Amino acid sequence: MKRFLAFMLTILMILSMAVGCKKAEESPANTVNTDVTLFKPGTYTGTGKGLFGDITVEVEVDTDKILSINVKSHNESGTISDPAFDKIPKEIIEYQTVNVDAVSGCTGSSNGIIEAVTVALEQSCNDMSKITVAVQKENINVEKVNYSADVVIIGSGGAGLSAAVEALNAGRSVIVLEKMAGYGGNTARAGSALNSADPEMQEKEEMSSGELSRIYDILELQPKNDLMKGWQETLKKEIDEYKEKGVTYLFDSPSLHKLQTYIGGDYVADPELIDVLADNTLDAINFLKETGVKWEERVTIAMGATWQRSHNPSAVDGTNKGVFVNTLVDTIDKKGGQLLLEHKAEELIMADGKCVGVRGVKGNGQPFEVQATKGVIIATGGFSANVEMRQKYNKHWANLDESLATSNHTGATGDGIIMAENVGAELVGMEWIQLTPWGSLGIPTAAIDNMVFVNQEGQRFVSEDNRRDVMAGEALKQSNSHFYMIYDGHTVVDGVSVGSGKRFDEETKKLDFVYKADSLEELAQKINMPYETLKETIDDFNRAVEEGNDAFGRTVFAEKIDKSPFYATYTCPVVHHTMGGIKINTNAQVINTDGKPIENLYAAGEVTGGIHGSNRLGGNAIADIFVFGRIAGQNVSK
Ligand code: ADP
Repeated sequence: MKRFLAFMLTILMILSMAVGCKKAEESPANTVNTDVTLFKPGTYTGTGKGLFGDITVEVEVDTDKILSINVKSHNESGTISDPAFDKIPKEIIEYQTVNVDAVSGCTGSSNGIIEAVTVALEQSCNDMSKITVAVQKENINVEKVNYSADVVIIGSGGAGLSAAVEALNAGRSVIVLEKMAGYGGNTARAGSALNSADPEMQEKEEMSSGELSRIYDILELQPKNDLMKGWQETLKKEIDEYKEKGVTYLFDSPSLHKLQTYIGGDYVADPELIDVLADNTLDAINFLKETGVKWEERVTIAMGATWQRSHNPSAVDGTNKGVFVNTLVDTIDKKGGQLLLEHKAEELIMADGKCVGVRGVKGNGQPFEVQATKGVIIATGGFSANVEMRQKYNKHWANLDESLATSNHTGATGDGIIMAENVGAELVGMEWIQLTPWGSLGIPTAAIDNMVFVNQEGQRFVSEDNRRDVMAGEALKQSNSHFYMIYDGHTVVDGVSVGSGKRFDEETKKLDFVYKADSLEELAQKINMPYETLKETIDDFNRAVEEGNDAFGRTVFAEKIDKSPFYATYTCPVVHHTMGGIKINTNAQVINTDGKPIENLYAAGEVTGGIHGSNRLGGNAIADIFVFGRIAGQNVSK
């Protein structure tokens, strides 16, 4: 907003000078020109700077009105920036001013559109001060709006939307409340990898000797409880059968997924929740398929996943971000669910110990209340974008203040956790906050199959198939806490990312932190890295791919890095996921501080705690939100 105000002031100053000059030239002395209209009618073109480059608009005006705004071209990012394109032109026309608020969650795109419209209008308007007045908001209707439905869901990320589909499938009426101007929260921004053991897919991949020995290491571990013991026993049987078959394809099973999730989170998670998670991931994939999601026909390894079981949706219009959200929103629309944007839930309504509704406020300041006859599901996501909460709960990182950015959308402020706590919910694992080693938008895929992390000096510093907390911790130790992801023409083929189907070369044009070169030497020059060291690093890695023996202990390999073009993405750690949250049971019911379910109150997705322990595996969040979102939607409907 500051940038916008400064920009407006400059425009106003330039214009007032220009208009003043013109009047002096054209008006005869001592006469007043009453014939001045606000605009010179016509259609004008203007360009502004969005988040990913230029936004160009055409603005049509008659003598005293802005009639229409058409966006001619832009490079902004689909689902995430859509609310700005929907809202900003409408508001400019409605209020006849360019001094409208940016849409929260897409400020960069909003400011780009406003700037483009302003530039277009400059060419036509005789008095910019008339179209730069602030929107008058005193006419806000303070009368409460009342709604009612069987099931009320707070939050339109993957957890909330999948819960809504299940409740609609069960014949319930559904209202989804979303505080932002667009759907999808973090789910719309996520790398989209969903972890699941999947017999059909894993047979397409080979298993390395390192991977096999990791399974035997897991079998050697002392079980922490009966559930873990049971998982190990099942895994032992499965791996014996696998060995007997004499096959070499990638082994996987829900029991291995459970064990890796539990161990990867340092045994902090609730094993009962993990049990449910890994038993239902394949079902979640099929559920999404039924709603229209198409899947890539292979499994990758999402960064921090520790095993190759990440499923990616196929790209639509060159990106796989937003695929889940768009498909689910369409499904909910078709099934008659109500999705209310800019409806921020602020309070849960309780009666006789039961949750019976939600109170909140609309984007225009109008209060609302929703009655829920069957129950309420909290699916508001995590609190990575809430610096105060980060600092309140952080125990394990040196510092999580505003100097660390977040990969999350601005609405990830922990609202649901606060609302639930206010009605007596227990919170678990709040101190476990995940940094991801990569805070960059400019990576082709969430998979690390064919990628190494290299510091500014040209050296690797961690095994890239490690846990996220380990990788982030090591990245923070590198000079300026940054590093480059190096990958090549095996990862991006003909401009398309192999893992995700994303049109990646299009994206590299928009991003000034992605570098592409025909040779490794040229790449080193571009990123100001000593070529000899980088070459040695890549040669060592390529040898490890061949021999399966890596100095950093990496066991997951795909191709060597030897195929032009070569890429580097500049990146640094950011706050990415909050593992703690509302305590739930395996039915997704919210548990109170006495250990009992709160009647008619459910929670699912990142707002809950206890599923990932101290460290979430990459690809397990998308699995979690759809598994527990569906469970919440099914159970609230009963
Ligand atoms: P998950 O991955 O758990 O589904 P997401 O971050 O994808 O979580 O989605 C959570 C959604 O909840 C976001 O779209 C966010 O804007 C929305 N949300 C958060 N707080 C509120 C609130 N108080 N009222 C309504 N919606 C909210």
